[in-house]
Formats: sequence, C-alpha cells, structure tokens
Amino acid sequence: MHQLGLMIDMNKCIGCKTCVVACRNHHGIVDHENCMPGEIPFYIRVESLTEGTYPLVSEHCWVVPCQHCKNAQCVKACASEAIVKDPQTGIVRIDADKCAGSKACIEACPYNVIQFDAVRNKAHKCDLCHDRVVAGEIPVCAEVCMTDAISFGEVEMLRQTALDQGREIDRKKSAMSIVYLKPTPKNTLAGV
Ligand code: SF4
Ligand code: SF4
Repeated sequence: MHQLGLMIDMNKCIGCKTCVVACRNHHGIVDHENCMPGEIPFYIRVESLTEGTYPLVSEHCWVVPCQHCKNAQCVKACASEAIVKDPQTGIVRIDADKCAGSKACIEACPYNVIQFDAVRNKAHKCDLCHDRVVAGEIPVCAEVCMTDAISFGEVEMLRQTALDQGREIDRKKSAMSIVYLKPTPKNTLAGV
C-alpha cells in the first residue's frame, strides 16, 4: 500500500498559522458557532518548544495534523465502521454518513486531532485534502505555507529525500505517516 503523507521541516516552520487558517477555509470549518460551539475547530495545530537559556535560546515550531496512522486507533474504536484507512493512499477518512457521534474515536486518538461537530453530531478531521489529492493537487496546508515548511508526497520518498539532503528525521515525532525533520543547529539561535 502506498502511504501519502506530509513532511514538516522544523528549520522552516515559523509558527505563523497560515496553514491553519487556509485549512479551516478549505474545509468550511469557519462557522465556529455551528461547527463546534464554544470552541474554535482545527484540523491542524501549531506546537512549539523553546530550548536553552538566554542568550543561547532556540525556538522550534511544527504543525500537527492527523498522522494517518499505520494501525489507526480511531479506526479500531469506531463501532459504526465509519473510519477507514484507504488502501490506495493510506489516508484515514471519516464517513459522515456512517458516523453515529459516539466520540469513541476522539477518546482513542493519541494525537488529539479529531474534532466534534455538536450540531451535526459528527466527528471530523484532516483527510489530507483527499478531494484535492485525487484531483492531482496537493493539500492546502502544503500549498499555502510561505516558507515551504510542508512537503506532500509518498512517505518513503519524502524520507529518502530528507536523508539524501543530509537531514535528520525526528524518529520520535515521525512514528506515523507525517515525517518531522529536526532543526539543524545553524538554524537556531543556540547554534550560532
Ligand atoms: S507550516 Fe508553514 S504556514 Fe504552517 S505555521 Fe509553519 S510556517 Fe506557517
Ligand atoms: S492521528 Fe488520530 S485520527 Fe489520525 S489516524 Fe491516528 S488515531 Fe486516527
């Protein structure tokens, strides 16, 4: 099975959240009141880590979408069989017509990326822009990132490209189908 995914370059991500906003717009999760009353829904979030002590301080940012897990806990947890891992692309998708709104997937997901639409009583999440991908386009987050921090493609090819470029993969973060590249020292204030 092919596994499509994203590669996140922590040398390049500046935490601007342009991808977060574009993703919300593309997937129509901009109506906060109806999509997720009382909360702002997201399919992709930004995390960051500050290391070192002043003046040798570095901050790294990275984004966290659904990891399109190899052995997805959300798929196992769904009694309605509403979540499937597509054998062609490896993309994990939720079929809204089958979703019974039990929230079992939300409890099961170790990455805390599944949102809940209380009005429609449906779980929803990143589907790697499946509609665009099958049309030969790339996911919106990868398209809008102004620093080119997000690459899209077949995961093993993304990994090989990174290794060919001498980059180090963050193995701990990259356990699933999203590949994270460690920041190199020269790109950190601590490394100057
Ligand atoms: S991945 Fe790109 S668009 Fe998203 S927060 Fe990082 S720099 Fe901004
Ligand atoms: S990150 Fe969560 S929602 Fe995405 S495939 Fe894995 S378990 Fe399912």
